[in-house]
Amino acid sequence: MSKRVPISFEFFPSKTDAGAEKLRTVHKELQLLNPEFFSVTYGAGGSTRERTLSTLNDFNGKGTPVAPHLSCIGDDKARITELLDIYKSQGIDRIVALRGDLPSGQVGLGELPYAQDLVRFIREHSGDYFNIEVAAYPEMHPQADSFDADIKRFCEKANAGANSAITQFFFNPDAYFYFVERIQKEGVNIPVAPGIMPITNASNLIRFADGTGAEIPRWIRKQLAAYGDDVESIKAFGHEVNLKLCERLIEGGAPSLHFYTMNQTEPNRQLVLDLGLA
Ligand code: FAD
Repeated sequence: MSKRVPISFEFFPSKTDAGAEKLRTVHKELQLLNPEFFSVTYGAGGSTRERTLSTLNDFNGKGTPVAPHLSCIGDDKARITELLDIYKSQGIDRIVALRGDLPSGQVGLGELPYAQDLVRFIREHSGDYFNIEVAAYPEMHPQADSFDADIKRFCEKANAGANSAITQFFFNPDAYFYFVERIQKEGVNIPVAPGIMPITNASNLIRFADGTGAEIPRWIRKQLAAYGDDVESIKAFGHEVNLKLCERLIEGGAPSLHFYTMNQTEPNRQLVLDLGLA
């Protein structure tokens, strides 16, 4: 059994009533595992604004705290202020602050071009009220000029007032440990929670990885390819991979784990149970 660390879960706002209803069930099931918070994603440029708010309304005040994601690219300060005021009035005090990615074809960075600008803006607007999480990329953000430049930008973001960070998903624990070592050498000591991506479907996983710059090691790709359409074998293999990854991360000092649930109870619940973190 692993050392006990806090856990959190990420949801995305559903596009349909049926999806929203199903998410309420998933929320109830995952809440039994006693997470620290549920975060809810936000489409850059405000594309999911209403649905993010409605998902938060479903879960806010029902036990576990909620944490909205908030992106700045393509949004202006007035709209961001409005959201911050809504969250404050609802007693929500944790925010995941991001730059976001605009759909291709849309140009213009807006008034707050980078996540560090958003963090600074939230601090100016609300002082210390919000606990601010930011994104971290152990395998480098795909648009960064270099690994070193990305580390520097991450540290600027932390120094702008972030309390903690959540990583993009990864399967190489050494990348995570190296990232943490590098930021600590720069004097940044905020907790960095590894983001854990369930493996249940090979093509989805490859698509997410390609879109985010996360690397799927060759041995995992090959094994997934060998299973073809055998979903049960993929799930069993994925569970084993993530179980070992989480165990190594916890042993190596990861302060908490954040699960990209994909709005599903399993395999997240089983993983948490097998790690003894419920
Ligand atoms: P930033 O920290 O601003 O970094 C973006 C890039 O700009 C990096 O390459 C960085 O090195 C560089 N950079 C930073 N500052 C400067 C500067 N001053 N000058 C020049 N270059 C700079 N996206 C969404 O749209 N909605 C979500 O809900 C969402 N949730 C996420 C949750 C997590 C945990 C993670 C890891 C990602 C999430 N994303 C989400 C994706 C994220 O928005 C994208 O990865 C986006 O491309 C970068 O966001 P960021 O906050 O890391 O940006």
